[in-house]
This record gives sequence, structure tokens and C-alpha cells, in this order.
Amino acid sequence: MAPVPPIMKAVQISQNGGVEVLEYKDIPVPTVGDGQILVRNRYAGLNYIDTYFRSGLYKVPQFPQTLGREGAGEVVAAHASVSGIPVGARVVFMGTYGTYAEYSVVAASDAIVIPDSVSTDKAAAAYLQGLTAWTFVREAGEVKAGQWALVHAAAGGVGGLLVQMLRAVGAKTIGTASSEEKCELARKNGAGWTILSSDDVVAKVKEITEGHGVDVIFDGVGKDTFDADIEMIARKGQIVSFGNASGAVPPVNILRLTPKCIKLMRPVVGGYLADRASLEKYSNELFEMVASGKLDILIHDVYPLKEVARAHQDIESRKTKGKLLIKL
Ligand code: NDP
Repeated sequence: MAPVPPIMKAVQISQNGGVEVLEYKDIPVPTVGDGQILVRNRYAGLNYIDTYFRSGLYKVPQFPQTLGREGAGEVVAAHASVSGIPVGARVVFMGTYGTYAEYSVVAASDAIVIPDSVSTDKAAAAYLQGLTAWTFVREAGEVKAGQWALVHAAAGGVGGLLVQMLRAVGAKTIGTASSEEKCELARKNGAGWTILSSDDVVAKVKEITEGHGVDVIFDGVGKDTFDADIEMIARKGQIVSFGNASGAVPPVNILRLTPKCIKLMRPVVGGYLADRASLEKYSNELFEMVASGKLDILIHDVYPLKEVARAHQDIESRKTKGKLLIKL
């Protein structure tokens, strides 16, 4: 194994703004403390949340800040207190700041060893978005076979995995997306019906479900779709609002939930993975689905670290389908 250098390449921000604030630079390689491992990242997963931290919608802990919250690579050093994750193991991790960098220090309790049957790029591509989709289907939506489900942005990273998982649990799934090409992908992935987001989505949902509405909605689009969600959710339905791709949902008057006894929730994936047993259970289930081919992991593109700005532009301009990866 090559020795760990003192300096590495990283992409940081020193202020919030557009893609011009992304700085490709040399920074010191971090060193491990108690309970930590040092990972030579091979891929960072790009997630929409990275754009929120860049723009300032979500606050970073400090400036300068290395962006990126998901990585996969090999363990190159471990603190003496760490057991169970040997140097040389391939691992994937999320939640830790700073994966737009060649090395990351990670709490060993956050790292999962990648099974031999799964390649490092697929692990990085499936992990954060896959755990989001799977915990939300299981715990946030508690989706049952035969229920009507609707997924917004159904050809995106999380959306593309949601429709596949909803098919696996036997839901009747409607996907929305902004182009016919994206709708076609959503149908291929398991949506029984698709609706162009520029159409009258509420009217189409009523038509497809013969007036019933959808029992559960997975909405990562946010501001632009929330009002329609309230209209097309079925009586006693569950709205899972989990993102802000079009902007944050403004404060909601709780009385809007009353007429149809609607349940509304705003979950975060980490909340379902807070203890090690849950992290291992959901990660194992996810990697089984990947290894067996039950889940098709679509990688939109792999960008060199230097070109992170282009990746941010691509995801924000709604050009992308599936996962964006940064090669390190
Ligand atoms: P995606 O790959 O899904 O990209 C976002 C998609 O949103 C676009 O492709 C686009 O699809 C759709 N979209 C609709 N309106 C807009 C708009 N105005 N600008 C840009 N895109 C728009 O991203 P991710 O899979 O990374 O994330 C999806 C959502 O899930 C995000 O909101 C993210 O924050 C959230 N998320 C939440 C988590 C949680 O724990 N709560 C965890 C992970 C993700 P189309 O062109 O078809 O409309």
C-alpha cells in the first residue's frame, strides 16, 4: 500500500454561492483520532444535499468546508482503539463531511465493509440514496403491497431507487418526471404509470387511481409539488416530504391535513440508521439487492474531482438520471 502523503486534493467552499465558490485545492491529509479510520476515497457520491450546503440553504459547520457526505474506498490507517475494520478493507460511509477529497477521516462506527460481490463504484452509487429510499419505503411510508404510491423525480437518484423498491414490495407506483425520456426510465424501473411534471398531475392521478388518490407520496422536490400532494393524497394517506430540489416547503398550516386525516412527515435518512444494528441491517439488505441484481444502479456520469462544478450544474439543471459520482 502506498504511503499516506501529507497533502491531498480536495474541493472546498469558503463562502456560500453558485458553483464559482467551489475551490479545487491542496489541503493537509487529516489524521485519525480515537475510534477513527483513514479512508483513501476512490469515489465520492454526489447528492443533491451538497448543493444545499454550497448555496447556503443548509449551513455548513465552518468555513472553509470540504463538501461531500458519502464516500467509498480503502482503509489506509486505523486508530489503535479500532477493531473489526482492518487496514486494506474496502468500506463505504456516509454522513461524514468532506468526501470531495482524496482522504477522509471516518468514525469506524459509521463505516460498512463492502461485500466482495459489490464493486466500489456501485457501493458508492447505491449507498446514501439507496439507504434513503429503503428506510423511507420501510419505515417512513410503511408501504404495503397493493397500495398506491407516487414518487416525484422518479428518474433521479433517490427516485430511481424508490420506484424499483416499491415494485419489489408490490405497490402500484406512479412516477412523475420532467421529460418523456425520464418517464420511460421510471416505467422501466417499476413505475406502472408516469406523468410529466408539466401536466396536470393531480387530475392524472385522480384518473389513474379512479378517484381514490395515492396512499403514500415520496416528495424530494419540495416547494413546487407540496400543494399538489395535499390535493392528490388519498384519505388517511401519508405524505413523506424529504427534500428541497425546487426550494424548501414553506411553513404548513396544520389544519390543511384535517379534511382527509393526512399524515405528513419530514424524515432524514440518518434518523433510521442512528444505531449500529440498524445501519448494518439496512446496509446488508441494500447490498443484497445490489448483488442479486434486484436493484439496477444507474450511474449517470463519473466526474473528475476538478470538475465538481460541472456535476453540480448538471444535477441542478435537471439533466441527470440516476447517480453522479466523483472519481478520486
Ligand atoms: P436527484 O437526482 O433526484 O435530482 C433532483 C431531481 O429533482 C431532478 O433531477 C429533477 O427531476 C427534480 N426537480 C424538480 N424540480 C427541480 C428544480 N426546480 N431544480 C432541480 N431539480 C428539480 O437528486 P437526489 O436523488 O440526490 O435527491 C433527491 C431529493 O432527495 C433531494 O431533494 C434531496 O435533498 C433529498 N434527499 C433527502 C434525504 C433525507 O434524508 N431527507 C436523503 C437523500 C436525498 P425532474 O427533472 O424529473 O423533475
